[in-house]
Amino acid sequence: MAFNNKNIFQKIFYREPHKHREPAFRYFFLIRIIPCLFAVNIFFIFYSCLQAEPARSEFTLGTLCSVNLYEQGNNDVYKEIFDRIREIENLMSVNIPSSDISLINAAAGIAPVKVHEETFNVIKNAVYYARLSDGAFDPSIGPIVSLWGIGNDEPRHEQLTHVPGREEIEKLLPLVNWHFIRLYEDTSSVFFIHEGMALDLGAIAKGYAADEAAKIIERAGIKRALIDLGGNIIVAGVKKDRKPWRVGVQSPDKARGETIGYLQITTLTAEQEESLPVKTIVTSGTYERFFEENGIRYHHIFDPSLGYPVQNGIISVTVIADVSMDADALSTAAFVLGYERGSALVESITGTEAVFVFDDKSIRQTSGANFILTDKTYNIKY
Ligand code: FAD
Ligand code: MG
Repeated sequence: MAFNNKNIFQKIFYREPHKHREPAFRYFFLIRIIPCLFAVNIFFIFYSCLQAEPARSEFTLGTLCSVNLYEQGNNDVYKEIFDRIREIENLMSVNIPSSDISLINAAAGIAPVKVHEETFNVIKNAVYYARLSDGAFDPSIGPIVSLWGIGNDEPRHEQLTHVPGREEIEKLLPLVNWHFIRLYEDTSSVFFIHEGMALDLGAIAKGYAADEAAKIIERAGIKRALIDLGGNIIVAGVKKDRKPWRVGVQSPDKARGETIGYLQITTLTAEQEESLPVKTIVTSGTYERFFEENGIRYHHIFDPSLGYPVQNGIISVTVIADVSMDADALSTAAFVLGYERGSALVESITGTEAVFVFDDKSIRQTSGANFILTDKTYNIKY
């Protein structure tokens, strides 16, 4: 018997027409069911839009990292962002033995280490800022960071609560010198020419992670967002009321979140509206990681030429820029350089501003910074 494909197909996918039922059924299906399904669909789309996922915070990069996608809060995008931040941590943390940085440090004085392209690029940028700041920012600060072991959010190394001996510091100081870093672009390899040298990207990699988070947000078509990776802030897009963003500057002597004033940040210009406009605000301060001995505060930002925490009257430097990795490096560099040289460095870079807070409760800012003081126990100096 000939196999009738058409009949089988018809049996599976079509019903035999029921002549007496067809017009009523079709009418019912077209006029009632389809619009109902459509309405239910629209309802769920609106409902899911109204049900934006709230801001998300996770502990990573040794600090509390928060992202707020506002009305477009979306589980998948939050997950992608935090997965990406962890990926960067796994590549660039000195505390993870398999990271590119740990491998470079372990092979110091022995052999070059091939690293991921993005690690290579962050190290290249770190070396660029070391050169630009005349060594005030120095990513080879690792041995000194380990010796002092100043941490707060989470123990980083053996915690020290006392000042190390001068001879210990002096023994390690010759190992802190960015000139001894060799970068081989063709093989993405990095080499420290002396044993015992160690990279530390703590002053730049959080900024890189924030930039990468902003890229994910732009790709996902999110219209506004706030990223805060332990003080590395990015404001993205334009606020609903189209007013400037207000970003608080932390009060050095009060609880986290209490501010001495705020920066007015404008992300909108007519020609920028096509892509997601971003601005970054990054602070380096003495009040997050420190211990005190004999009335002196020993904090985590070191003068690479001395091996001691910087003591120049500055409590914090906040840098405003377009790229968070740049602002991160610059806030540390300007802190170490001090007000005169630090503000000159910041002023020399187009679109970059800074606010300096001093221990005598004075504040200075570069020409285009838009800092509004609210704590009247402080005063702005011009
Ligand atoms: P910044 O001024 O931006 O940086 C200060 C940090 O940079 C110092 O802590 C030191 O590490 C380094 N530094 C000091 N002086 C100089 C200098 N002159 N030039 C260059 N660098 C300098 N913290 C933990 O407690 N546990 C962790 O496991 C941990 N993992 C991290 C992983 C990654 C990938 C990153 C980027 C950070 C991690 N941190 C961790 C946090 C880190 O150790 C720093 O404390 C933090 O990045 C300091 O940032 P900041 O913005 O406060 O100050
Ligand atoms: Mg920094």
